[in-house]
Amino acid sequence: MMKYKHEDYINSGFYSDMDSDVENHKEKIVKCRKPHKCAACQGDISIGHHALYETGFMDGKPVSCYTCTPCLDKWIEEGDDV
Ligand SMILES: [Zn+2]
Repeated sequence: MMKYKHEDYINSGFYSDMDSDVENHKEKIVKCRKPHKCAACQGDISIGHHALYETGFMDGKPVSCYTCTPCLDKWIEEGDDV
C-alpha cells in the first residue's frame, strides 16, 4: 500500500540526493510486472507492488534502480522532520 500520492514520491528516490552524479535523472512510480530488489533495503518488491523506478547515466553508463514504497515512506517521513 502507498501512504502518499504518487507525486509525493517523486524526488524522494535513491538517486535524488546524488543528482550531480546522475545525469538525465528521471524517476517515476511504476507497478512492478516482475519482481525487483529494492536498491535501499535489498528487500524484494513483489509483482503488482509499486516502486519508484529511477534511471539516468553515471560516468556515461546507464543506471537504474527500484526503491520500495516502505523505504520511500521512511525517507518522506524523515524529510518532514527537518
Ligand atoms: Zn526498500
